[in-house]
Amino acid sequence: MRSVTLTTVGPVSSPDERRDALKAAFFQAKSCVRCPQLAERRTTVVFGAGNADADLMFVGEAPGRNEDLQGRPFVGQAGGLLQELLGGIGLTRDQVFITNVLMCRPPQNRDPHPVEIEHCQDWLARKIELVQPSVICTLGNFATKLLRQDTTGITRVHGRAEERLVGRRAVWLYPVFHPAAALYSPAQVEVLRTDFARLPGLLALGAPAQPEPERPVEPETEPEPQPEVAEATAAREPEPAQLGLF
Ligand code: URA
Repeated sequence: MRSVTLTTVGPVSSPDERRDALKAAFFQAKSCVRCPQLAERRTTVVFGAGNADADLMFVGEAPGRNEDLQGRPFVGQAGGLLQELLGGIGLTRDQVFITNVLMCRPPQNRDPHPVEIEHCQDWLARKIELVQPSVICTLGNFATKLLRQDTTGITRVHGRAEERLVGRRAVWLYPVFHPAAALYSPAQVEVLRTDFARLPGLLALGAPAQPEPERPVEPETEPEPQPEVAEATAAREPEPAQLGLF
């Protein structure tokens, strides 16, 4: 199995703990300024939304105008098609988790810059670590190239599942075309439908065998209390609407 190196923060176990940690990550991400050009121009950070314990995670490219205004991924035209494709396999948005390679809208919807992808990848890794999906469906070239750590384009790899280690999570990685690319092409929509039709079978397989958990390193000094405080605080916060159904 090939692996992708993304920095992750640390294991969190029960679904409730993972959900609180996801909320904590959401509140932290809201003030991220790693990409000054994007941070300055955004309306809001689009962290991702959906089910905190989803078996299926979608990773798109970056928020567009509507997503930037509403703070939720895939709420524009491409989102409408994604929702329709999900409906075609009997799923709804609240059963999956949807996010992007970038959490902030690039100006004029330009392509994400490599440095921006690098800045945002720890956040993506943290979301994967906390949601613990079995299947990650990458939408289009940017997510596919990042999570396969390979420059092979989507045309060559779409519709073929591979077992991959993403950070410390073993998943079925399943690239499909980006719905935005299919908006004006009925033929592309058909390809997407065919590829989506394989998702239920992949989900039925369950997650691939997980690697042995890393042994915790003995701290030399007392651990800093901040992460737990952040998670406890997040647990008391009202459900952020931007995160959808949690
Ligand atoms: N395209 C994406 O890649 N992500 C969105 O959230 C919306 C459109």
